[in-house]
Amino acid sequence: SAKRGTPRWRRYEESMHARMLQRMQLRADLGQAITDDAFVLHFQPIVDLATGHTRGLEALVRWQHPARGLVPPLEFIEIAEESGLIVPLGDWVLRHAVDAAAKFRAAVPEQAPYMSVNVSVRQFRSAGFVSRVFAELARAGLPAELLTIEITESLLLGDDEQIHAGLQTLRAAGVKVSIDDFGTGYSSLSYLHRVDVDTLKLDKSFVDTIATSPQQYDLVRGIIQLAATLQLDVVAEGIETDQHRELLIDGGCAYGQGYLFARPLPEDAVLGYMAGSEHS
Ligand code: C2E
Ligand code: CA
Ligand code: CA
Ligand code: CA
Repeated sequence: SAKRGTPRWRRYEESMHARMLQRMQLRADLGQAITDDAFVLHFQPIVDLATGHTRGLEALVRWQHPARGLVPPLEFIEIAEESGLIVPLGDWVLRHAVDAAAKFRAAVPEQAPYMSVNVSVRQFRSAGFVSRVFAELARAGLPAELLTIEITESLLLGDDEQIHAGLQTLRAAGVKVSIDDFGTGYSSLSYLHRVDVDTLKLDKSFVDTIATSPQQYDLVRGIIQLAATLQLDVVAEGIETDQHRELLIDGGCAYGQGYLFARPLPEDAVLGYMAGSEHS
């Protein structure tokens, strides 16, 4: 190759440098993208595992980059977090997710799906976050019960008074709170009895292993049972096979999402998907 004469360390340094430049470029573009409204939400159905009926939708953001096409969130959420742009970006997501939820509710009032929105730690901690949630619900005319916010375990560790007060205020108004990626964090089980949440989202990494490891399956069943004792719902993430679905149902898990049911869908495909799954 053309690089044959270049020492390994030098190539490494060059690729580090290129990656750094790319991140700096993305960060600059991201600021502009927020001004330009260059994002789109896709919605992944959260289904009743036994019937396949859609109960909720998770809003997942994508960036419509002028040169790079549709950029997945894993490539820019972290950059947004570091730079603080996650706060205006998160506000954009919240506003558009609540609007979409109000539209879906108007279209199918009998089966209005709840809308589940990812909220980062920095966004949750930003001044006025809880009031902005209420303002968006009021503006869109969406009942608080149809909004879920997904937070990570890291928000709950550390016993931050302000955070617990915020969660309590949201839940007292009817907003549901879900712990995302459950099981990937630290002390997972020990804090569960004292936190103000409604739902655990069992991380895909658990679901991946239940078909091949009896020990993992036992662990997952234990988590589901514990959740039931604490009156928490469980949503299993990343369900890709019928075997996953069956093992989870047998283990007592009621809800799930994953490619077996649907990938994240563009807004105009959601109602069609819901109508199809009601009849099957
Ligand atoms: P997440 O919250 O854990 O979202 C689930 C991710 O798993 C989504 O990736 C979804 O497309 C993917 N997924 C769902 N089912 C399956 C499956 O069966 N198999 C596999 N392999 N993957 C599946 P996506 O959309 O790329 O989002 C990645 C992450 O980006 C999300 O992980 C979330 O942490 C973050 N994210 C997305 N949108 C937002 C947002 O609006 N705000 C914030 N703060 N983070 C967001
Ligand atoms: Ca999530
Ligand atoms: Ca997740
Ligand atoms: Ca995840």
